[in-house]
Amino acid sequence: MITIKILIADPIITSAVENLSKNFEVVERHFSPSELLSKISDYDAIIVRSGTKVTREVIEKSKLKVIGRAGVGVDNIDVEAATEKRIFVVNSPRASTISVAEITIAYMLALSRNLVQATNETKAGKWPKKRLMGTEIYGKTLGFIGCGRIGAEVAKRVQIFGMTCLVYDPYLPPEVPAKIGVELTDDLDRLFRVSDFITIHAWLTEETRGMIGENELEKMKPTAFLVNCARGGIVDEEALYDALKKGKIAGAALDVFSVEPARENKLFELENLYVSPHIGASTKEAQERAGQVTAEQVRLVLNSKKPEFCVNPKLLE
Ligand code: NAD
Repeated sequence: MITIKILIADPIITSAVENLSKNFEVVERHFSPSELLSKISDYDAIIVRSGTKVTREVIEKSKLKVIGRAGVGVDNIDVEAATEKRIFVVNSPRASTISVAEITIAYMLALSRNLVQATNETKAGKWPKKRLMGTEIYGKTLGFIGCGRIGAEVAKRVQIFGMTCLVYDPYLPPEVPAKIGVELTDDLDRLFRVSDFITIHAWLTEETRGMIGENELEKMKPTAFLVNCARGGIVDEEALYDALKKGKIAGAALDVFSVEPARENKLFELENLYVSPHIGASTKEAQERAGQVTAEQVRLVLNSKKPEFCVNPKLLE
């Protein structure tokens, strides 16, 4: 009997590993890039998160049938090379949707009430009660750049807070805005001018790279906040630095950066910028879902069945 071997190169939840181990030989091991190149030919499947890069070179040396990404973004996988070799790339696109929606709203609430400054200064023995005047999010307008899975969950939740949602998303199916209670606009200029908060939920593409730069930040209200929990590179960091420093906007929050890990970034000196190390999907629930769903997708392919979440659907034709 031929043994089918799966390499789990970045850790996923134990129960998902145990499930796969019932039918396949599973190796849990993180390899360095050069080790991965020399070992990959032993495996029929690989499961990664964002830590392991599945490059063209790795793919070409392999006999892989499927590459599983426990999560959504496949920036670390050469999907084109995989498709050329008819290797399925599968993922778990909804696993972190709620987690990212929640961190986005957490940032909006934290920014509007100066919670990071309040924490730091209170712990430092200051009592900045008068200076830290906040604003409510109730009655305010939230502008969306992109409103797919995550955007829709944000929209649902902020309406309960009494916010109005204005969406710019040229690819949104026409029935969606009414369904999720948002106003769709193609007037990006208006969105920048009227929004009290702007949140980004689009992918980094040639179209969205640098989409929020000096001109766009200039149009925003001086009281407005910008939140980016999508992808670095959509916001021009130089322009954001300038806008925050000069008080052109009130504050911003970034979970993602143009270069990651972002260990040094001049933006970090700014008090009105809240940051986190790309932890939008870092919740117990999201990681559990991602592991379970991805393992199931990998199993389907290895059993010659159609995966539900396939990044290269061309292979399903
Ligand atoms: P999605 O595909 O469901 O939604 C993306 C939306 O962006 C779509 O509705 C699409 O029509 C729209 N869009 C495409 N081009 C656009 C443009 N030029 N202008 C405006 N809108 C445009 O994706 P999703 O699952 O909601 O993910 C959204 C973002 O969140 C992605 O960038 C993803 O990488 C990011 N994300 C971040 C984390 C994190 O840890 N911070 C975790 C998961 C996802």
